[in-house]
Amino acid sequence: MPSFNTNDQLQPDTQSVYAPASSMEKMSRQSVIQIGVDALNGVGSDLICKVCIRNGGSCCSGCRHLENGIGCKNRNTSCTAWLCGFLKYLLYATGLLTEWDDFWRQVPGQAYREDYTPEFFFIEKPLHMQSIRNLSEALAADLQELATKHIAIGFIITLREKIDKNIDRLNHCKNDPKKRNRIKRNIKVLSSPFHRFQKELREYHHLNM
Ligand code: SF4
Ligand code: SF4
Repeated sequence: MPSFNTNDQLQPDTQSVYAPASSMEKMSRQSVIQIGVDALNGVGSDLICKVCIRNGGSCCSGCRHLENGIGCKNRNTSCTAWLCGFLKYLLYATGLLTEWDDFWRQVPGQAYREDYTPEFFFIEKPLHMQSIRNLSEALAADLQELATKHIAIGFIITLREKIDKNIDRLNHCKNDPKKRNRIKRNIKVLSSPFHRFQKELREYHHLNM
């Protein structure tokens, strides 16, 4: 589910425009959502979502803003910024997660399945993502294969939650190298069945060295 993400400097419930520092850029709520949607499209989130939803893992399940045949009727900054374990892993493995987090940390008023983001606000850092649809295609194929192989209902969804938890834990122990190494090993083990993805990832890192 979309997570609650407070912004310490820019509090919700205000429609005011914040005073800009010299390098800051005025941004509208709508354009920030569009930037996020375009970036997600570039990384191929739709390919992974298709497999996840087919296997009962939709994060929109039960949301009052979801309409049959139409989809989300309340596109907001919170749900755009939020990443599930699969998408978090995709960005973690490709080194794009910090870029994503740093961008969204600047967007005020994120909540749960709705936002209190002002119509206009200022951001300092633009979002620079890459097109990595070949990687998400590989991950989606791996996930579908795992879901088919494992008869246990929700196998890939449980995997998604475990990966999610580990990546979050990693962010919470930035100054503890031993703990970080342990968590990184966990993530490696959890993602070891993603064979197609790991192959594409090696290529990606080779090209981006
Ligand atoms: S949980 Fe993740 S993969 Fe599944 S539908 Fe939501 S965003 Fe897509
Ligand atoms: S608000 Fe939209 S994107 Fe967010 S959970 Fe509901 S249907 Fe999904």
